[in-house]
Amino acid sequence: MNNAVMENGTTVDGGAKADLAADPVMPMRAFELRVSAVAQLTPHFRRLTFQGTDLELFGSNVDGQTLDLRVKVMIPSPGHALPELSNIRGSLQEDWYQGWLAVDESRRGVMRTYTVRALRPSVPASADGPGDPAELDIDFVLHLDGGSGPAAEWAAAARPGDTLMLVGPCARWGDCLGIEYAPGEAERVLLVGDETAVPAIAAILETLPPHISGHAVLEVPSAEDFLDISTPANVEVRWLARGAKDHGEELSRHVRALVVPAACEVGEEPEDVDVDATILWETPAATAGHGLYAWIAGEAATIKALRRYLVRDVGMDRNSVAFMGYWRKGQALS
Ligand SMILES: Cc1cc2nc3c(=O)[nH]c(=O)nc-3n(C[C@H](O)[C@H](O)[C@H](O)COP(=O)(O)OP(=O)(O)OC[C@H]3O[C@@H](n4cnc5c(N)ncnc54)[C@H](O)[C@@H]3O)c2cc1C
Repeated sequence: MNNAVMENGTTVDGGAKADLAADPVMPMRAFELRVSAVAQLTPHFRRLTFQGTDLELFGSNVDGQTLDLRVKVMIPSPGHALPELSNIRGSLQEDWYQGWLAVDESRRGVMRTYTVRALRPSVPASADGPGDPAELDIDFVLHLDGGSGPAAEWAAAARPGDTLMLVGPCARWGDCLGIEYAPGEAERVLLVGDETAVPAIAAILETLPPHISGHAVLEVPSAEDFLDISTPANVEVRWLARGAKDHGEELSRHVRALVVPAACEVGEEPEDVDVDATILWETPAATAGHGLYAWIAGEAATIKALRRYLVRDVGMDRNSVAFMGYWRKGQALS
C-alpha cells in the first residue's frame, strides 16, 4: 500500500485533495485521469501517462510495487469526454460493476482490462523545486491491423488532455487487489507472454532480486516491437518476432525447447476449459518450495495449449504456475 495519503486525507504534495471525509474505505476506487504524456514506444506499443487529483490514493503492494496489477479502464463513448457515471465515483461499493452495466450503453463507455506499467508517487515541493504530481503509465497494444477494438483505437488517437475513468485498488485498504504474481520462495522463474503481457512481465522483471534466475519469453508482432527491459535478476529475456507466423507459434516452440518433459514422468491431464465460453484464469495463491515458478499470460488458446503441455507433458505442479488468458481471438472481453 502506498502511504502518500495523510491521516486527514490530504496528499503529501499539498495539491488537489480528494474529499475523503465522507468516502468509506473500500478495496476499489474509481479514478478520473487525464493523459499527461504520450510516447509511441514501437509500432505496436503506445505508452499513455496519466495524472489525476486523487491518484495518490492508488494502491500498490507493501513494497510499493505494482507487478502485474490489473485495472479496468472505461473508454469514453464517442462524443463524451468521460463515461457519464454518477454512481461510479471515489470509493466503490462491491456492486459497482452491476451499477456500471445498468447505465445506458451509449453513456457508460466500454470497459477493458489493462496492466499498470508503472506508478510514480508524487514528489513534494521543496527548496529544490516545485515537486511532481503522481503519475501512472499504461502500455497499450495497438492491434489495429485486422481485429481492432475501442480501447486500442482510443489509445492510438489519445492526446495530452484526454480523459479516462479507471477502476483500481485503493491505497487506504490493506490489501492491493489485482496482483496475481505470487512466486513465494521460488528461486527460478519462467515468465511467458505475448504483447499484451509484456507490460506485466516488464514490471515484474524490474523488481526481481539478483538471486532469482530463469527465463522470460516474449512474443511480439515484429522485431521493431522489442523493448529495453532491465532487471537486476539473472533472468534471460528472449524476444520473439511473430512476423507472418500464427499467434503463439513462436512462444510455444520456445517454451517447449526450454522446459523439456522428463523421460519417465507424466502429469495429469488438466480439465478442459472452453476458452470461447470461459476466461482461462488459474492462479495459485501461494507457491510452495524453492523451485520453479511460472507466470504465463496472453491469447487464451495459446495459454491453454501451454497449460496442457506444462501440466500434462512436463508434469509441473499446478501450484507453481499462473495461467491467464488475457484476450481471446475473435472476441471482445471486458
Ligand atoms: C489482466 C489483464 C491485463 C492486460 N493488460 C494489458 C496491457 O497492459 N496492455 C494491453 O494492450 N492489453 C492488455 N490486456 C489485453 C486487453 O484487455 C485486450 O487486448 C482487449 O481486448 C483490448 O480491448 P480492445 O477494445 O482494443 O479490443 P476488443 O474490443 O476487446 O476486441 C476487438 C477484437 O480485437 C481482438 N484483439 C483484442 N486484443 C488483441 C490483441 N492484443 N491483438 C490482436 N487482436 C486483439 C479481439 O479478439 C477482438 O476480435 C490485458 C488483459 C487482461 C485480462
